[in-house]
Amino acid sequence: MTSDFALSSPLVPRVSEKDAKALQYIEEITRNAATFQETVLAEILSRNANSEYLQRYKLGGATDRETFKLKLPVITYEDIKPDIQRMADGDRSAVLLASPISEFLKSSGTSSGEQKLFPSTQEELDRRHFQISLLRAVMNRGVPDLDKGKGLYFLFVRPETRTPGGLLVRPASNSMYKSDHFKTRLHDYTSPIEAILCADSFQSMYTHMLCGLLEREQVLRLGALFASGLLRAMRFLQIHWQALANDIETGTLNQKITDPSIRDCMARILKPRPELAELIRMECSEENWEGIIARIWPNTKYLDAIATGSMAQYIHLLDYYSGSLPIASMLYSSSECFFGLNLNPMCKTSEASYTIMPNMAYFEFLLHDPGSPASTSDFQPPKLVDLVDVEVGKEYEPIITNYTGLYRYKVGDILRVAGFHNASPHFHFVRRKDALLSIDYDKTDEADLQKAVENASRLLREFDTRILEYTSYAEKKTNPGHYVIYWEILVKDPANSPTDDVLKQCCLAMEESLDSAYREARVVDKTIGPLEIRLVKTGTFEELMDYAISRGASINQYKVARCVSSTSILKLLDSRVKSKHFSPSLPHWTT
Ligand code: AMP
Repeated sequence: MTSDFALSSPLVPRVSEKDAKALQYIEEITRNAATFQETVLAEILSRNANSEYLQRYKLGGATDRETFKLKLPVITYEDIKPDIQRMADGDRSAVLLASPISEFLKSSGTSSGEQKLFPSTQEELDRRHFQISLLRAVMNRGVPDLDKGKGLYFLFVRPETRTPGGLLVRPASNSMYKSDHFKTRLHDYTSPIEAILCADSFQSMYTHMLCGLLEREQVLRLGALFASGLLRAMRFLQIHWQALANDIETGTLNQKITDPSIRDCMARILKPRPELAELIRMECSEENWEGIIARIWPNTKYLDAIATGSMAQYIHLLDYYSGSLPIASMLYSSSECFFGLNLNPMCKTSEASYTIMPNMAYFEFLLHDPGSPASTSDFQPPKLVDLVDVEVGKEYEPIITNYTGLYRYKVGDILRVAGFHNASPHFHFVRRKDALLSIDYDKTDEADLQKAVENASRLLREFDTRILEYTSYAEKKTNPGHYVIYWEILVKDPANSPTDDVLKQCCLAMEESLDSAYREARVVDKTIGPLEIRLVKTGTFEELMDYAISRGASINQYKVARCVSSTSILKLLDSRVKSKHFSPSLPHWTT
């Protein structure tokens, strides 16, 4: 176990006192990971000893690891959904936790059509803010002089709602951008808070981009929460550069920006700058956008966006736009829990790993080995290992016990241990456990896809047509990417086969049936394009099976993969396509 930090080494650039404290703090908690874990668990259990949940499992006030592991089951969201529902409906008693909850965090990690809600408290939000504030010290260590310029960050809030009991429901990012902690960091960004907090994503993006262009020389980093967000910004620039250049030339704000607070603050910032407008026109009117980021923002040192897991698919496009600037994939976090930080953010993006912060929750790990009894038998209790006991190279699913009412909760991510920082492991994010298709923050699993296909197939009944087989593919070469569903259909009467219009409606029916994260990305963020059905010739799936068997699959066990990514299989499928059909309109979306 080694530490990357050598604060006193003369070879390491001088760090500010504040950064040094932050880095020392990380050292301390990772060095004492086991002790922190024990303390965190004892604290969570003693605070919530009177909660209904812990009493249900007769914990009897115990705070030790052994009793905890013996008495509490490993659970999924479904197990606590009724408890959460009661809290959402207004039950203020200590259902899952003793402290009053301040809001629900809404997760995008979904299945079965609805987003999950997780209770949160002000204390938990503060704890997360503190962890995020450590990132800056880590980044300053890797990239000098970041304080000499600003960041152009494409940050957005999402719609907020309330539960029947009146509690606020919003994504964790909203809580962060609306907090006082965040305000103290605003001087680091080119965007004013009005741009970030504007709920209209067009106006918000327009203002981010405009401010970023106005301060192009000061920009040292471009960022978004996820890599898909940065690409969305590039696409926006491709579409709107003329309007943006106009505003910069004349010093007046586009009439489409109607938000009064944005108009007010831009009136103070915008002045006619014809030379800058000219430069933007010159760069953006070029056919070739390769390296455009480095040309428009010449002092950019790196891109800051999560680019691991399902976001890794965008690395090559970001490389294209940026001329291969480093991409810092800084943190691993979810609505359920803040997991960890990338302590070596300038590493190759594909090698990014996240060191678990042992003060954030109590972490256990379920070995992910499809052949092992732990995952195949319902009768044997799963074998969980503690944070400090995971083994390098092995894959695990994290199981968390947090301060806000989740006890031994399966997160659904698969992680591989890359190594240890002091006594705390750092993990590569491998994948979401059940996700089949993902373009942005949507995660569609096999059950969701099956349901979507079934819903669409109803439209084929009057044509006496059945879907014989299907598979899918997340097409990312288009910008935005979109879902492609390959169908092999059986038409009883060729004279009455479904028309292009009907198949388009089938696309829309599938979109309507996909979960709200998909529809939100499609309708609000426009980061997913229209769903496409590709009809393939009769016998194509038979050929797919022959192909799999020729490559060693067992004929008995062969199942059609509901999602394909292998180039050779896609080639085979595409060579058999008879017709292509796209969703004709947007699916419904309400907050
Ligand atoms: P949400 O609860 O909507 O914030 O989604 C959290 C999920 O996003 C996690 O459980 C992961 O599946 C995914 N995620 C978060 N951070 C990362 C990361 N650094 N790399 C890959 N996936 C991530």
